[in-house]
Amino acid sequence: MAVQPPPADQRIVIENVAIATVDANDTEYARGHVVILGNRIESVGNGPAPQWLDNVVRRINGEGHLITPGLVNTHHHFYQWITRGLAQDSILFDWLVALYPIWSRIDDRLVHAASQGSAAALLKSGCTTASDHHYVFPQGGGDILGASIEAVGELGMRFTALRGSMSRGKSDGGLPPDFAVEKTEDILIASEAAVDRWHDSSFGSMLHVAIAPCSPFSVTTDLMREAAELARRKGVRLHTHGSEAAEEEQFCKELFGMGPTDYFESVGWLGEDVWMAHCVHMNDSDIAKFAETGTGVAHCPSSNARLAAGIARVPDMLTAGVPVGLGVDGTASNESGELGTELRNALLINRLHGRPDALTARSALRLGTMGGARVLGRQNEIGSIEVGKLADLALWKIDGIMHSSIADPVAALTMGALPPLATLFVNGNAVVEKGNLTTVNEDQIALACARAAKELASRV
Ligand SMILES: [Zn+2]
Repeated sequence: MAVQPPPADQRIVIENVAIATVDANDTEYARGHVVILGNRIESVGNGPAPQWLDNVVRRINGEGHLITPGLVNTHHHFYQWITRGLAQDSILFDWLVALYPIWSRIDDRLVHAASQGSAAALLKSGCTTASDHHYVFPQGGGDILGASIEAVGELGMRFTALRGSMSRGKSDGGLPPDFAVEKTEDILIASEAAVDRWHDSSFGSMLHVAIAPCSPFSVTTDLMREAAELARRKGVRLHTHGSEAAEEEQFCKELFGMGPTDYFESVGWLGEDVWMAHCVHMNDSDIAKFAETGTGVAHCPSSNARLAAGIARVPDMLTAGVPVGLGVDGTASNESGELGTELRNALLINRLHGRPDALTARSALRLGTMGGARVLGRQNEIGSIEVGKLADLALWKIDGIMHSSIADPVAALTMGALPPLATLFVNGNAVVEKGNLTTVNEDQIALACARAAKELASRV
């Protein structure tokens, strides 16, 4: 059963804590307080909390801790939790060709296990909102999207479920084998049904649905166009992979006579309601188009490194005004599955562009919080610690041996080892305490995932 919101009149007080609000002015408090009322932030500021507060069910002494907004993951494939450690030394296209035959044998039961593994890794590393791009729907696989939604609800994470798809098989010039793709008409019907069944656009929603054909090399042009029309008719967002690898650019030039960004523009896929994963191979004109249209980017530094895809031009994107968030990407190309560690990876990898201030400690934190919130269209609800926003908060312990001598609490989080997570609040509920899930037994998830991985491998 999904985790229920806390009583609306219940208060939780966190005091004596270092606070990085990530508001518009990057306001920080060296020793302040945060008050949660129900599922929202009631107050944040310097010094102790007001004394007159009633119905305080919990008072946390945050001495030696840093509180930040919960992290927001903008790109993932939860099902890949049970296909980790395979095709270890391949570039994107070879890696995909090796894995498609395995992935095309999944079903709803295996996806439930894998989704709990992926969601657990995200929660345990400070992530409070995640999107999951699911694009493999084998015939007879059952209610796969429903299984992922149920799995995430049980762990209590805020979620955007992406109804993905592949429609361009090998015989149409695509990369996936023909048996792994669906018919365009079936995809559109299923995508619309998913929006009707699950998408909740209300303030504080725990569940959004978006429409997400997989990539230019696995989706027909007709489906790209029709998916965009469908999403705009239903008022939901659009997501896909874009400009991930050099081979993709070559593929687009050969098949469409243009690069990926120009192709996306030609099929109506640039706009404020669109975000794309990776965007590694972007020229100045591509970045300008993203900035002009408000198209968002999910930056996935670890996955890009794992597949030797290249380094996205994140500093240039931020200078141009492109909305950028962070993504773990699927765990078949980022076996860690932790979002917290992506803060440091993004900071370090972007400095390889040759500028020591390419990403600062604070801009890395902003990418992982407000940046992601904006990319998912939820900047008014989550992403910063501000009065009235949802109580999605990460309390990091920074007085232990790994962090106590780092001069700056934010640098401790984004430049040091990932600190222990004391408590993670999602929607006002403590879903992680002292690093462990409070909602579902972790050993059971680990066992279910190990069994699911074996079962899937045995089907090939
Ligand atoms: Zn991906």
